[in-house]
Amino acid sequence: MESPERISLIELGQRPVNPLVFWGVISAVLAVVVILIVRASGVSTGIHWLILVPVGAYLVIMGVFISYLSRLYRERNRLMAEKIKNEESKIDETKKLNLELEAYAKQLFDKDFELTLANKRLQNLEQAKSKFISVTTHQLRTPLSAIKWTFHMLLSGNLGTITEDQRNFMQKGYDGTQRIITIINDLLNVDYIEADKSDYNFLGVNLVDLIDSIIFEFTNQAESKKIKLTFVKPTTNLPQVTADPVKVSMVLENLIDNAMKYTPAGGRVTINLSDARINSARSALEVIVSDSGIGVPSAEKDKIFHRFYRGTNAIKAEPDGTGLGLFIAHDIVEKHGGEIWFESKEGEGTHFHFTLPVFRPEPAA
Ligand code: ATP
Ligand code: MG
Repeated sequence: MESPERISLIELGQRPVNPLVFWGVISAVLAVVVILIVRASGVSTGIHWLILVPVGAYLVIMGVFISYLSRLYRERNRLMAEKIKNEESKIDETKKLNLELEAYAKQLFDKDFELTLANKRLQNLEQAKSKFISVTTHQLRTPLSAIKWTFHMLLSGNLGTITEDQRNFMQKGYDGTQRIITIINDLLNVDYIEADKSDYNFLGVNLVDLIDSIIFEFTNQAESKKIKLTFVKPTTNLPQVTADPVKVSMVLENLIDNAMKYTPAGGRVTINLSDARINSARSALEVIVSDSGIGVPSAEKDKIFHRFYRGTNAIKAEPDGTGLGLFIAHDIVEKHGGEIWFESKEGEGTHFHFTLPVFRPEPAA
């Protein structure tokens, strides 16, 4: 048999005691003490009750009050315990979330690192691709120019007379070679356009000389297409412009190429150099490339500087083309701080204008 549980005094002190029982015991003890004191003092029985009744009433009221207070405290303690428990569970949850966040942050950091590496690799690949395009296209251009010139010499009869049939075949060969050269130039241009302004080499440039050299490239085409190609040079000496000659050559090539392409045989292409804007706030020279060609349809005028856009009439007249020439020209002129615009009437012709700032040499230090 199990011995009855013995409770030590300390344990008893730690057990919760019902305050009503506690107060009952205290009240009984006090009542006995009062009775004993009253008896010992030898007071008569009537007075006995006169003292005992209020004391008893007082003890009962106090008992009820104490029990009420105790219930109030117990309820408050219960609520506080609940609150603490809630807070503790929230703290646990926050700790868990923190741990999860730390894990996510680590994952993100790892991903960021991977992305940076991948980006670097892509940049290297991009550079390698650009270099590959530039080198290959440059290398291709030289032998193609030689073929084109050979066709030209044969066509012009410099190497002996040829029959009409032979001429037709050679003309096809010449035109095909010219088309490949145009595509290669576009590839080179795309490569150039990826260059930002820091890749530009700005110098003082004599526009008359530059235009002369570019026009020279088109004389054969003008001759074979029977187009009157003229450069109206200014009568006065003009100042130099601030420009990257390689990039400005591309603008001129693209504009003159368009004028030649979109002007039917027997038409004219004229290049003017004007100093009309030399005394304006942003002193500049203006180049105008005019032609008597197919023109730009009014509804398409705001799109022709867009990348890859080609006019509906242009596609009919010249199926080969990428729609990059004007986009590139626009970008280059903008990077020079100049402006480019055009006027055109469908079926009558087009005037393309662009400006370049007048060169101001740096004052000597
Ligand atoms: P490519 O990139 O091979 O030069 P493209 O000549 O079609 O092709 P852009 O030079 O960018 O491309 O010209 C865009 C469009 O603007 C042309 O397709 C044409 O519709 C129009 N355009 C440009 N110049 C002229 C012009 N002188 N006369 C008529 N239309 C023109
Ligand atoms: Mg073009």
